[in-house]
Amino acid sequence: MPNDQRETSPAPAYDALIVGAGFAGLYSLHRLRSLGLKVRVFEAAQDIGGTWFWNRYPGARCDFESMQYSYSFSDEIQQEWNWSEYYASQPEILRYINFVADKLNLRGNIRLNTRVTAATFDEHANSWSVFTENGERFVTSFLVMATGCLSIPIEGDFSGLEDFAGEVHRTSDWPPEGVALGGRRVGLIGTGSSGVQITPILAAEARHLTVFQRTPHYSIPAHNRPLDPEYVRGWKENYNERRRAARLSRNSTLTDAGNRSGLEFSHEEREREFARRWDVTGGIGFIYAFTDVTMNDAVNQHASDFARRRIASIVRDPSKAAALTPRDYGIGGKRICVDTNYYETFNRDNVTLVDIRSDPIVRMTPQGLRTKTTEHALDILVLAIGFDAMTGALTRVDITGRAGGKLRDHWKDGPKTYLGLSVSGFPNLFLVTGPGSPSVFANMVTSIEQHVDWITDCILAMKRSLRVTIEATQEAEEAWFSHVNEVGARTMLAKAGNSWYVGANVPGKPRVVMPYMGGAPTYMEKIEGVARENYAGFRIN
Ligand code: FAD
Repeated sequence: MPNDQRETSPAPAYDALIVGAGFAGLYSLHRLRSLGLKVRVFEAAQDIGGTWFWNRYPGARCDFESMQYSYSFSDEIQQEWNWSEYYASQPEILRYINFVADKLNLRGNIRLNTRVTAATFDEHANSWSVFTENGERFVTSFLVMATGCLSIPIEGDFSGLEDFAGEVHRTSDWPPEGVALGGRRVGLIGTGSSGVQITPILAAEARHLTVFQRTPHYSIPAHNRPLDPEYVRGWKENYNERRRAARLSRNSTLTDAGNRSGLEFSHEEREREFARRWDVTGGIGFIYAFTDVTMNDAVNQHASDFARRRIASIVRDPSKAAALTPRDYGIGGKRICVDTNYYETFNRDNVTLVDIRSDPIVRMTPQGLRTKTTEHALDILVLAIGFDAMTGALTRVDITGRAGGKLRDHWKDGPKTYLGLSVSGFPNLFLVTGPGSPSVFANMVTSIEQHVDWITDCILAMKRSLRVTIEATQEAEEAWFSHVNEVGARTMLAKAGNSWYVGANVPGKPRVVMPYMGGAPTYMEKIEGVARENYAGFRIN
């Protein structure tokens, strides 16, 4: 009976329990264990890796450069590991995570195939009872939720799905043995980052691909390439210095980000810069051409217009080009995608684009998918329909804090946290890259390291001072939540208002900008300052 606190909790068997074995959980384990604490990780999956274990669809890759989307805490690891491409593929990232786990000997403290379903704070014992889906209970002093920002896939509600005689596969849980696509008619629903990555591969392998698109996204060419040994040497010889510089940049990544407003340049100069970033350097650096591409309406309009003209110049069929062009929001209003031949794929004879805003999906049938006007015959349906982002993994665990307060209720008007790390009324509970931190708006491995280092230092300080509980005050939490909303309101995310960043992809989810948009360095200064001031805004007992 998970939430029953009438019976006294046994003494904590663990100093810290960690939920999740992706980048965040693994680094948390390494750091907390190295303090000499008794720590264990619970992971729902059959293996470690988190995002990079689950999302093994063809074409899955990171769109932050591999030399930077990796742990920085160990020079030995960053020197020893060799990335093969500028943007690493999912199998390579998964191999890297396993390499790190073996190197640090982490596996012995990880329990796989173990989903945590509930966690309850016992105010008398000052401990958390953590419950798994098998009905087991584990008691711990600290609980670290390393459950991921994009780890709960949207189920989707397609009437008649059970009648469909073909195969249904999700990008978020692709069969490890792969899917035979040759000679088959494939339908794809979802045109966000995963959809954009898988589209060219499905088109190349299947007999026919039908892409069902609700919302067009802006996608920038990746210009992915094998890594040049000279380039790698340059990084390895200067790794620590470059990592330091990256931490001082807006999204924790060293890119050639412009440091002036687009308004300081003429239209022609801006046009040249956008062209250089689209044609030569590629990737999400496009929106870092100037400091205000996602903040200033005029600059944003120019960047969006540039991308729209490029789509029109690539896609030969004008009606397909029109459907693929985002019109009702500016670039940066949704997660920008990075692709290899995405728009070009729609020039292939075996690819059909169905705009489901004008021709809505009615239902699945035994033979395929019926839209308002047409029956599309399919052998395979691929769903790339996104995630219940940032809060989904946390609200799915029944978390009960002081006085029986539920995290789900506490967040009913939006995910209130203090610094994205802690929640008032939930002592000794830490979130890694929680809502209210830069999280998905920065290089996440760097964000994870920063959070885990902060949490580790905090637990160490508690142990040293013989303190037992730490929790955010309600005032500090309210003030931070208002600040996150205020900063978020100035961005394209709030103006577009229809992305997963604001919860718009999940019916009933409160619409607030969830990541902190004030930039990673400002955020780092803030959390380090809070720690220096003896954890200002926290109540410690
Ligand atoms: P995850 O890797 O999501 O790991 C969380 C783990 O927690 C999962 O294994 C999950 O099974 C487990 N878990 C959750 N709930 C429970 C529970 N109740 N009980 C037990 N276990 C649980 N980020 C970038 O910075 N750059 C990119 O280019 C980029 N590309 C991405 C591409 C894709 C397709 C996706 C999905 C995400 C991408 N991300 C990217 C974000 C990515 O999620 C992070 O970079 C990073 O991998 C997050 O690590 P994590 O450990 O915080 O979470």
